[in-house]
Amino acid sequence: MISPGLRRRYSGESESVCMPTQAVPLRSLRSLQRAQRACTRCADAGFIARAHPVFSGHAGQHILLVGQAPGPVEHDQSRPFAGRAGRQLMRWLVRGGFRDEDDVRDRIYMTAMTTCFPGRRPDGAGDRRPGAAEVALCAPWLDGVLALLRPRLILPIGSLALERFLPGQRLDSVIGAAYTVNGVPIHGAPHGSPVLVPLPHPSGQSRWLNDPARLALLDRALLTLREMVAWADPGG
Ligand code: SF4
Repeated sequence: MISPGLRRRYSGESESVCMPTQAVPLRSLRSLQRAQRACTRCADAGFIARAHPVFSGHAGQHILLVGQAPGPVEHDQSRPFAGRAGRQLMRWLVRGGFRDEDDVRDRIYMTAMTTCFPGRRPDGAGDRRPGAAEVALCAPWLDGVLALLRPRLILPIGSLALERFLPGQRLDSVIGAAYTVNGVPIHGAPHGSPVLVPLPHPSGQSRWLNDPARLALLDRALLTLREMVAWADPGG
């Protein structure tokens, strides 16, 4: 969910209530990025061994993609969605209206619910899902990006990002359509922005796609995405 303050900001109400809950620089996206790259909150709190925030993008982009958290490949390359899940995501996004991976990275600001690699699961079976406390520590950075970028289109990727933007909803019930920030399905051309188009997480760890009915939902989501990309970024 977009925080109440940010929703008021999008609807043109008082800016004083729109500040993120912890101080982050809101002068410019570039100053926010500088400060975010220096952030060590989760390492200081003992959640991760070393902070290394990974995100990409710049002012002027109209589309914001919010994943769960970087993995080890993204951590090593300092590049969002650089690993196997990223390759799958790029294939989906090409089906959703982008020319190729370069076009995706040119036109989409990429960040995550937590922007540092959370480490492996204790049992070694994949990457650890960030906990609520880590998500809360990182939320002001995402709030700041939303306030400064003011994206027309937001792509929550996977269930953790879905909980932020469409709280209480399940992937099964929302994948395949576009929504207002209040969770109302959009039919036809949107009347305002931002518009949400949720997608499942492309990671092989996710079992969500092991079902033909869900693959059909993904097909619908990518058709919806194609329409919304053309609306949000027609000159792209
Ligand atoms: S995950 Fe976010 S809040 Fe935590 S250290 Fe990294 S940038 Fe800071």
